[in-house]
Parts: sequence; structure tokens; C-alpha cells
Amino acid sequence: MRNRAIFLDRDGTIIYERNYLSRIAEIKLLPGTKKALTLLKSSGFLLIVLTNQSGIARGFFDKKFVKTTHQIINRKLGGIIDDFFVCPHSPDAHCSCRKPKNGLLRAAAKRWRINLSSSWIVGDKLSDIMIRNKDGMSSILIGKNGSHYCSDSWNRIVKTIMKTEYRRQYVGR
Ligand SMILES: [Mg+2]
Ligand SMILES: [Zn+2]
Repeated sequence: MRNRAIFLDRDGTIIYERNYLSRIAEIKLLPGTKKALTLLKSSGFLLIVLTNQSGIARGFFDKKFVKTTHQIINRKLGGIIDDFFVCPHSPDAHCSCRKPKNGLLRAAAKRWRINLSSSWIVGDKLSDIMIRNKDGMSSILIGKNGSHYCSDSWNRIVKTIMKTEYRRQYVGR
């Protein structure tokens, strides 16, 4: 159990939020995402996306479309995402994987042997970061001004994570 990871939400965190993104042309990275994630990856974090895609259960798109979407996102990011975990269910299915439930997180931690206490969670909604549990994971929300994404948000996130990691490693707190 040695790996550490940044768990990422997808819509509104890595790419622009769309109302049930269902066209490839709508996939657009948020500003600063690639640079930030590249930096975090090179400092030893796995990058793992955890995403609710109830559009599958609602019939707006299928699993194959979501898979293709993730391949495209990863290509845009230079292939640095290690894995994608998807909840395809609708809210009324009461599954154990739809965030804020932590099924996706548990599955990811198991597959990649992740030490959650030295991992982070980044999302744009409280339901993303609510899945952190007793393991003492750290979490950060993407900055928003109303419904608008703050352009320096990813810079701020990287700074916070790096500063905290440095303190943990060298100052021991
Ligand atoms: Mg989101
Ligand atoms: Zn689910």
C-alpha cells in the first residue's frame, strides 16, 4: 500500500462542465489543467479520475462513448491519467459508487494499492470531496466565481498540494 494519488473529478474539474456532455466536440480542458497535472504527476502522484456519469443510465450516451471521451481527455493531457473510474448509475439506483458514496474511491485504492492518507481529492462540488473518509485524505475544491471557473484555480491547487507535501516530508507536520 505505497502509492499516493490525486483523485480527480472530471466535469468542471478537468474539462468544462457541459449538461450531459454527449458530443466529442464539447470536450475542452479547463485552463491550466495540463500544466498542473503534469507537475503533480512528476512529483510522484498517480492521477485517477472518479466520475459520476448518470447520463449512461438515463440513455443520453453509452459506456462506449464515455470510454472514448476518456481516451480523448487523456490524449489532450499527454496520456498522464493512470485510470478512470465511472459510476454509470442514476441517483435512484442507490448504488454504492455514485459520489458522494465512496465505491469508486475504494475500487481505485484497491486496484492501485493507494495509501489514502497521503492522497488528495480535487473536485468542483462538495459531493466530490465528501467521499474522503476517515483515512485523513486531503481535499481541495476548484475555485469558482459563481458558476464561472477561476482561471488561476489549478495554479493555486498545485501550490497548496506542493507546499503541504513539502511540509509533511521535511518538517514532519
Ligand atoms: Mg464536477
Ligand atoms: Zn454507481
